[in-house]
Amino acid sequence: MKMMVFDVGGTAIKYGMVDGDFNILFSEEMPTNTYKTGNPIMQALESKLDEYAGEFDAVGISTAGQVDFANGIVTDGTDNIPNYRGSDLKGVFEKKYNVPVAVDNDVNCAGLGEAYFGAGVGENDFLCLTYGTGVGGCIFQGGDVYRGTKCAAGEFGHMLLHAGERQCTCGKKGCYEAYASCRAFTNTVSERFGRYMSGREIFKEENLKNPIIIEELDKWENEIVSGLVSLCNIFNPSLIILGGGIMSEDLLVNHIREKLRNSIGVNYQCVRVEKAKLRNKAGMLGAAYLAAKKLNG
Ligand SMILES: [Zn+2]
Repeated sequence: MKMMVFDVGGTAIKYGMVDGDFNILFSEEMPTNTYKTGNPIMQALESKLDEYAGEFDAVGISTAGQVDFANGIVTDGTDNIPNYRGSDLKGVFEKKYNVPVAVDNDVNCAGLGEAYFGAGVGENDFLCLTYGTGVGGCIFQGGDVYRGTKCAAGEFGHMLLHAGERQCTCGKKGCYEAYASCRAFTNTVSERFGRYMSGREIFKEENLKNPIIIEELDKWENEIVSGLVSLCNIFNPSLIILGGGIMSEDLLVNHIREKLRNSIGVNYQCVRVEKAKLRNKAGMLGAAYLAAKKLNG
């Protein structure tokens, strides 16, 4: 059994082949804007499916945006990708290639990847959050992703924690991700230094002694933790998995762990805070899991 898998993001599309034991046989990537006209993503995926036609038994697609999971249609949240909203990935590709196609959003796929192959192995109820340009979320409950009525559950980045304040990309003011995303942090630090500083640069050892960075890091951690406290109160999870490149920083994760511990009551203390394990392979493995599920019924 082989599955062709994709992980569609705002800047790159990762693709590859996964076998029945969930080994990634190969993976490559192409720029999201490889095609300039029409529906660039559909064309990009189709070009690779054509190239490997006959070699796969199912297709798994992890994608940016919100997805109607049952029908495999991209429904919203893809304003930065031209003509992508409304794409009937499942319908079009199942018809053309005559194999089952599973589609879910990238954070859910990453959550599934971590659930079955990463930091969430053995856990039935956990939350997965990714901190990057925004904050994504996945609710894993009773052994599956909780998707909500319209498959839009887990948008933790748009919890209104500072109503009326800082502008969010969604149009509202005061969303969690406007304060807690990695971008919010690098923007704030860059403003204070009068030049752009990436997360990687900020976390260099010599910079971590700078009082401005110490102050801003402390504030950012508090923003991250305030959202996690609310999520603990709502879900009482046994595990929170933190993903996104910046969460590879042990210092940051240790601070979050400690601050969260000091902010939650006795019945929430059981929560473990762990780094995501699979990094950029999580989405593809989650998509492969969904594709395999289609094949195995
Ligand atoms: Zn928002």
